[in-house]
Amino acid sequence: MGKITCNVVRDLIPLYVDDVLSNDSKEIVENHIAECEGCKKYYSQLKDGATHTAERSRHDQKIIKSIRKEIRRKRNIAVGVAVIIVTLIAVVALFSTVDAMKQDMVSGEFSEKNEVSAEAVELHNKEIEVKKKIKALDNENITNIRLDIVCNANDNSISEACIYIVSKADIEDAEMKSRIRELTAQCLEIETTNIEVIYGVAE
Ligand SMILES: [Zn+2]
Repeated sequence: MGKITCNVVRDLIPLYVDDVLSNDSKEIVENHIAECEGCKKYYSQLKDGATHTAERSRHDQKIIKSIRKEIRRKRNIAVGVAVIIVTLIAVVALFSTVDAMKQDMVSGEFSEKNEVSAEAVELHNKEIEVKKKIKALDNENITNIRLDIVCNANDNSISEACIYIVSKADIEDAEMKSRIRELTAQCLEIETTNIEVIYGVAE
């Protein structure tokens, strides 16, 4: 067996650093670098490089982890914001519905945004009464009744009423209109001349 040259040792040193050499080869490398400054230096550089690579890899893992964490955090925030928005929309929709219901109850000049006044409730009850009575006049033909009431701005008293009556057939009955006027006048306590009756035919 000839002399182990530096070239042979330097071929082995990378494998030595990776710890994949047999014990015999390891011994050859160790004996050589104990006495040869050049190969020892070469070994140190390779070893430092390997350590650096491992550290770098660990560092990269850390960065990847923190990026993943950040992504998760952002996703959680997005989900949270979405939940809040949906909740807000639901609340707004609910309040709009309640408000619309109040508005439905309140007609004409009585309309008040935030509270249903006693007058409005009274008016609403009168409306129901009128509609019931008109419906009772012709329960078979009348499919829908709408009552628009106009009130005096000063005392909130009713001044006019327009009644839209939708029926299955085309009713042009003067007597019927007259009876509707009378009933409405009684319920709303206004002059018959202030009441208009309009018929329409349901499609
Ligand atoms: Zn050497």
